[in-house]
Amino acid sequence: ELEIAIKVVIVGNGGVGKSSMIQRYCKGIYTRDYKKTIGVDFLERMIDIDGEDVRVMLWDTAGQEEFDAITKAYYRGAQACVLTFSTTDRCSFEAVKDWKKKVENECGEIPTVLVQNKIDLMDQAMVTFEESEALAKSLGVRLFRTSVKEDLNVAGVFRYLATNCHEM
Ligand code: GDP
Ligand code: MG
Repeated sequence: ELEIAIKVVIVGNGGVGKSSMIQRYCKGIYTRDYKKTIGVDFLERMIDIDGEDVRVMLWDTAGQEEFDAITKAYYRGAQACVLTFSTTDRCSFEAVKDWKKKVENECGEIPTVLVQNKIDLMDQAMVTFEESEALAKSLGVRLFRTSVKEDLNVAGVFRYLATNCHEM
C-alpha cells in the first residue's frame, strides 16, 4: 500500500504560535516556551483520511522569522501551507499577505488556510472577526480560528489541508 505523506509549512510572524501549534498537534502538549525546553525542527502525526493513513509532516522555523533567514529548504516540496497570525498582534495580521507571496514564490499555488490563533485572548483582540473574514475572502482561503492553548480547532486545520491535498 502506498503511503500518503504531506509536508505542511507553517508561516507567520514570530510569536503567533507556530511552534506551539506544531507541538500541540503532534505531541498534545502546550507550554509557555518550547524553544528553551525542546529543540525540535520536525514533527509528524499520522491521521486517517477516508480510511487511508496520511502522514502529516510539519517543520518548525526555529524563530528566524524576524531575520527573513528561512532558507529555501524549509519550503522545498511543501504541499500545503498554514498562514498564521495572532488575535493580539496587529502586525502579524498585516504581514499575512507578504507571507502568502513568499510561499507562492517558493512553492507555487498549494492548498492554504488562514489561521487566527489565540482566540482565547479575544478580550485583548487587535483584529476583529470581520477583518479576519475579509482577509480570508480576499486571499481566497478558508479561515480557521484557533486557540492552541485551549486546543480549539487545531486538528481541524490539518485535517482540512490533508483532505484537500488528498483530493488533488
Ligand atoms: P512562534 O514564534 O510563532 O513559534 O510562536 P510560539 O509558539 O513560540 O508562541 C509564542 C507565545 O504565544 C508562547 O508564549 C506561547 O505559549 C503563546 N501562545 C501560542 N498559542 C497561544 C494561544 O492559542 N493562546 C495564548 N494565550 N497563547 C498562545
Ligand atoms: Mg517558533
